[in-house]
Amino acid sequence: MKVTPVEEIIQRHTDSIISGNIKPPQGSCPKCFETPNTYKLHECRKRKFRFIVGCFVRIVLSLLVRWECPICGRTFTEYPAFALPYKRYVLMDIELLCEDYLENEKSYQETVSCEDEVIGYEEKAGKVDERQLSPSTPWRWLGFLGSMKNTLTEALNLIRQKAPDSYIFRELFPIFPGKYRTLKRKLLLQNAWKLLQANQIFQHLFGEKIFPRYEIARTRI
Ligand SMILES: [Zn+2]
Repeated sequence: MKVTPVEEIIQRHTDSIISGNIKPPQGSCPKCFETPNTYKLHECRKRKFRFIVGCFVRIVLSLLVRWECPICGRTFTEYPAFALPYKRYVLMDIELLCEDYLENEKSYQETVSCEDEVIGYEEKAGKVDERQLSPSTPWRWLGFLGSMKNTLTEALNLIRQKAPDSYIFRELFPIFPGKYRTLKRKLLLQNAWKLLQANQIFQHLFGEKIFPRYEIARTRI
């Protein structure tokens, strides 16, 4: 089995945790918003990540670190740059498929297809895995991204301070008719698209992604 760039990134993350090369997060606690001097390592737990290789989904096992805040005593999970809280697929694939859907006149079914076949799971140890990438998966991802309004607003504010002439403030993000039946869904898709674009600009300007690094209450996203 060929190791892909995404798999290498995940492997490096796993190796750094196994070798104990992990630093406590900086900044305020996502639970109580206080800023302790440092966080205590609470536990490392196993987590499977999915990513797309060619026309198949591959699953790899990695680790996530849970930290404890000494001020409130609560714990939270820190997510590496390739992962999003509550999402099983890596961020790169979420971005890729969502952008493909938004930029092209494609259905969800076509978005989860490769060479006219639906993307399926890779065989493991000679065993056939019947599971397939469902068209409802990118549909849900776009709903999730589109609802991150606070993240989008904060990111756009920061981009505006550093790059007020950025194209993102002029771009219209037109959605193909037929991709929505309600105005609500259209706005959700536009926000999702804007967020994906804002993330690229943000990474270019500030060297980091705008997505949440910690598992926080869904209502705060
Ligand atoms: Zn706390």
